[in-house]
Amino acid sequence: MKKVYFITGSQHLYGKDIFTEINRHSAEIANYLSGKLPAEAVALPVVTTKEEITNAFKAANNDDDCVGVITWMHTFSPSKMWIGGFKILHKPLLQLNTQYNRDIPWSEIDMDFMNLNQSAHGDREHGYITSRMNLKRKVVAGFWQDSSVIGQIGCWVRAAVGKAECDNLKLIRFGDNMRNVAVTEGDKVSAEIELGWSVNGFGIGDLLEYVKNVREEEIDKLMAEYKEKYIINTTRTDAIREQARYEIAMERFLDENNAKAFTTTFEDLHGLNQLPGLAVQRLMEKGYGFGAEGDWKTAALTRVMKRMAEGLEGGTSFMEDYTYHYEPGNEMILGAHMLEVCPTVSAEKPKIEVHDLGIGGKSAPARMVFNGLSGDGICVCILDMGNRLRMIIQEIKLLPVSNEMPNLPVARLLWRPMPNINDGTKAWIMAGGAHHTCLSTALTKEHLIDLADMLGIETVVIDKNTDIYSLKKELQLNEVLWRLK
Ligand code: MN
Repeated sequence: MKKVYFITGSQHLYGKDIFTEINRHSAEIANYLSGKLPAEAVALPVVTTKEEITNAFKAANNDDDCVGVITWMHTFSPSKMWIGGFKILHKPLLQLNTQYNRDIPWSEIDMDFMNLNQSAHGDREHGYITSRMNLKRKVVAGFWQDSSVIGQIGCWVRAAVGKAECDNLKLIRFGDNMRNVAVTEGDKVSAEIELGWSVNGFGIGDLLEYVKNVREEEIDKLMAEYKEKYIINTTRTDAIREQARYEIAMERFLDENNAKAFTTTFEDLHGLNQLPGLAVQRLMEKGYGFGAEGDWKTAALTRVMKRMAEGLEGGTSFMEDYTYHYEPGNEMILGAHMLEVCPTVSAEKPKIEVHDLGIGGKSAPARMVFNGLSGDGICVCILDMGNRLRMIIQEIKLLPVSNEMPNLPVARLLWRPMPNINDGTKAWIMAGGAHHTCLSTALTKEHLIDLADMLGIETVVIDKNTDIYSLKKELQLNEVLWRLK
């Protein structure tokens, strides 16, 4: 399990006697948070000098399991002592402004109590130095047992897990980007500098060797698993076996290269009889990130978001905005792809079917077909704007798929973008948003905002409060700000 360090600040002005009690308080708070957060909060001994502070941050930097640092000033901790530590801290930072006691003990309060419990001004001194040093950090304020406070810390912890995933992420591209497409392109060197993603290409022939070496018994075993987990809605077993072969080969290829995300392209399938469909859906279900048509940015984002969402209800998938429904009062977008939608966003037991593809000129591929989840969700994309990366996060309302679509042989989801279909799509297009996204019903915009802040990339949020004129000004201002950087 990942860890966050809980570092409590004080100083020697009030005598050493208070440190025992401070350590007891921070251990209790960290222990309480550990039970509610998707990481263990580890309380370090109270830090009271420049040397202790710097050493605590060095320890955080060097601990691979530590994804971030929470700081809290129990008493006043003069902030010049923190400058050296902050200069070397490489892990995400959360500044928690809280207080051990919820209530003022009215009848007993005296100056000793005040000197021991003074986060109200200790955390203000701390906030000055983090602002003065222009540090990336999240500020959370409120009583530590408050569910909204814990919720905000929880979002940050998941984002920190995502940031750690970014730092180690390797992505394999089978083939290049789809010819002539702009939005799936990007600077892979910038991506590795800014985001940590290592993106490298392999020829489809490299994969083919793995495909050839898959044994029939391995396929038999996987077919039994398919039969148990899904409804086999076809007699074309050979086409399903072909996808099972791809699944085993691709997973082996990814694992041997320590890669957690990949892309394919229907324009480069030499030696494969089918476009990988069911195989890709299965790998996404197992947690790998995927992007079609060589879209490595969405593939990596999908892996990172899946990692951030681990343990939460709901699903996360590669997605594409496909078709509109403009019925007045019941407007929506139908999202799908040629084949590759992750079954974690299915509302039902998926059916495995085999159908011809309209494009690509290959054999009919097996794929899972299902109706998607309903409820709240987000669509997210990352764009290369030339001089910077931009993340767009849109809140959406997923609608139950109630209409029969007997001739549509792919998994499908329906949703309404916020604030409404016309302004929501207009805002997305004004910001340059891609047709490929990562859709999640498990994560919220706060998770992604925290991640973008940690990565230091531009963020555009489109939600129920989006006003087109304000967004236009925001985009214009961002253009200038990012040119100044
Ligand atoms: Mn596509």
